[in-house]
Amino acid sequence: MSIELTCSQFDEVLKELNKEYTIFAPVKHEGIGTYSGTDIVRYSEIKDVYSIIHDEKSDFSPKEIYFPITQTLFYFFNDEEVVPQIDDKKYIILMRPCDINSLSILESVFIKNGGNNGDYYYKRLRDKIKIFMLECREGFDSCFCVSMGMNETNNYDIALRFNDNKVSCHFNNSEFDKYFQDKGKKTDFSPEFVKSNQVKVAVPDINKITMDMFQDDIWSEYTKRCIACGRCNFVCPTCTCWSMQDIKYDGQPNAGERRRVWASCHVDGYTDMAGGHSFRRSNGERMRFKVFHKVYDFKKRFGYNMCTGCGRCDEVCPEYISYSNSVNKLAKLAEGANTDGK
Ligand code: SF4
Ligand code: SF4
Repeated sequence: MSIELTCSQFDEVLKELNKEYTIFAPVKHEGIGTYSGTDIVRYSEIKDVYSIIHDEKSDFSPKEIYFPITQTLFYFFNDEEVVPQIDDKKYIILMRPCDINSLSILESVFIKNGGNNGDYYYKRLRDKIKIFMLECREGFDSCFCVSMGMNETNNYDIALRFNDNKVSCHFNNSEFDKYFQDKGKKTDFSPEFVKSNQVKVAVPDINKITMDMFQDDIWSEYTKRCIACGRCNFVCPTCTCWSMQDIKYDGQPNAGERRRVWASCHVDGYTDMAGGHSFRRSNGERMRFKVFHKVYDFKKRFGYNMCTGCGRCDEVCPEYISYSNSVNKLAKLAEGANTDGK
């Protein structure tokens, strides 16, 4: 079923939904962007339709809702530990197709990877989520979702098209029908997807990856150029590393909390071990690790790539390092071609 509503009708629906759901969408935050005086689009709670940024790519992915940047795992006091509760209110998240597809990747990391013991903290947030898909027909300059096969999905409850003060809705889940009853008019809307991106990425054939490619000279460029800021990891919808922090409260030597906090495979200290050892000391080695992890070893384990082609990493890098181009270089290597000319 599909219907078309005016924005004000859709706003009324959101207000009704908001009684049962916390609703998240891309929202513009003015003046706190990367550069002085610029804005940033990040996922935030919304109360009305007019806050939704549907025509720009969000700088951060929705990952920070279901895998928060900082998350308290438990509080401790003497010999007791208490796991923090979360509220019962369910979530609706407005997401683009590539970001919806990133959920399958996170599912592999947080749920399937643990045998019968999926990640409790991830699962309890993921289980709250209903998905309203933001239709994406054109993509943006840095996207390469088509190359990664992440441009389409049927994994949504409702698909939305915003057009000329109208919102078209296509329903995949009758659970939401009651909110839309007696509103709008029937249409034949069904969502369309990006068919082609400006950026094309050749994904390497994992059967053609050989050990000598780990030592190839293509990685040394990144040792010179990368400043190990980790920004590419933090905007990525599929990077899932964290480190642990035990926080002791001032004046209470036996009380505190354990948190997990996002970490980055690019930053100094990430692979440091006891005895002063470190697996990847140079920034080129770290870039190599990330690229191989995204398009080689994850795929070997789970059968698909750990990258949606959202292009956020290419946009956010202060050193103009192109991850998409690094994948292309690896693909050329795998095909035995010369990578000169970058
Ligand atoms: S590696 Fe880059 S393009 Fe791929 S999902 Fe992460 S941020 Fe997006
Ligand atoms: S590749 Fe770019 S964004 Fe990523 S750590 Fe290096 S300098 Fe920072």
